Amino acid sequence: MLIDTYGRVATDLRVSLTDRCNLRCTYCMPEEGLQWLAKPDLLTDDEIVRLIDIAVRLLGVEEVRFTGGEPLLRPGLVGIVQRVAALAARPRMSLTTNGIGLRRTATALKAAGLDRVNVSLDTLRPAVFRTLTRRDRHQDVLDGLRAAHDAGLTPVKVNTVLMPGLNEDEAPDLLAWALAHGYELRFIEQMPLDAQHGWKRDSMVTAGDILASLSTRFDLTPEGTDDRGSAPAERWLVDGGPHRVGVIASVTRPFCAACDRTRLTADGQIRTCLFAREETDLRGALRSGAPDEEIARIWRLAMWGKKAGAGLDDPAFVQPDRPMSAIGG
Ligand code: SAM
Ligand code: SF4
Repeated sequence: MLIDTYGRVATDLRVSLTDRCNLRCTYCMPEEGLQWLAKPDLLTDDEIVRLIDIAVRLLGVEEVRFTGGEPLLRPGLVGIVQRVAALAARPRMSLTTNGIGLRRTATALKAAGLDRVNVSLDTLRPAVFRTLTRRDRHQDVLDGLRAAHDAGLTPVKVNTVLMPGLNEDEAPDLLAWALAHGYELRFIEQMPLDAQHGWKRDSMVTAGDILASLSTRFDLTPEGTDDRGSAPAERWLVDGGPHRVGVIASVTRPFCAACDRTRLTADGQIRTCLFAREETDLRGALRSGAPDEEIARIWRLAMWGKKAGAGLDDPAFVQPDRPMSAIGG
């Protein structure tokens, strides 16, 4: 198992497939993009599948989430999903995506064995989408969402970040829209993981703000946390249920004590936390011919050193060098 000194067990693996993206969300990336990882530094498809196999067979991982950057930009994505689905200890598999390109790939991903998707969409207004993402792709995301739903990649969850002065007034409209389309909406508090280091705690939209705004139109009843005890989304029944809305309050109501995550970056580094400042290199071990047991040992040791919490409230908190897009959100 991937256990740490606080007794937490990591069973949920986030795999970043690329640091590149076709959007430039203001809370994530600068307009000009970033210095992308060089191709030889990226794990190959074979290396990714081997590490996932080690994680599920030797380390107790039960769930794999592919992310990025934009994971749909990875040419081998469908093949990777197919190969992971064929593993003897098949994990549950999901994908976090901006939805662009999902219209073309949803059916193939479902056929390959993907269970579900989380699609990120912050606004229902095309003009606001252009400002927030610096790209004119709003309709592509809506089409991708519909395709995912029709392909059975369900429940389709929608991730939304609210930004002050841009889309902070849209929470009730987004919830009404999600309910009408059968999507499960989850708001994520903006975190200090943008490459530009522009995050400001005093101006961010908090879980409290979001709930107050939703309550102007909906009756919300606390439902507790997600199905898995450790999931970060606190959920509310909307107007008595059965529909729900989630809020991931990583900043104002951190859930570190129940964290069950381990993360693999596209260049083969293990991270114990989004906010970790240290990484453990698995790519070097892979490429120097280490056997599976040795790689599992390095991974276990990395997780053993996981810190108690993200430390956002610590006056000494320093944002990690890698931005969200290069860690894998
Ligand atoms: N490109 C894909 C997407 O946008 O869904 C996957 C990667 S993205 C980094 C994963 C999630 O992280 C998205 O839902 C995005 O909204 C969220 N995200 C990115 N930067 C964030 C930040 N600074 N604070 C909170 N969430 C953030
Ligand atoms: Fe790209 Fe996702 Fe970051 Fe937006 S949040 S820039 S879609 S990686």
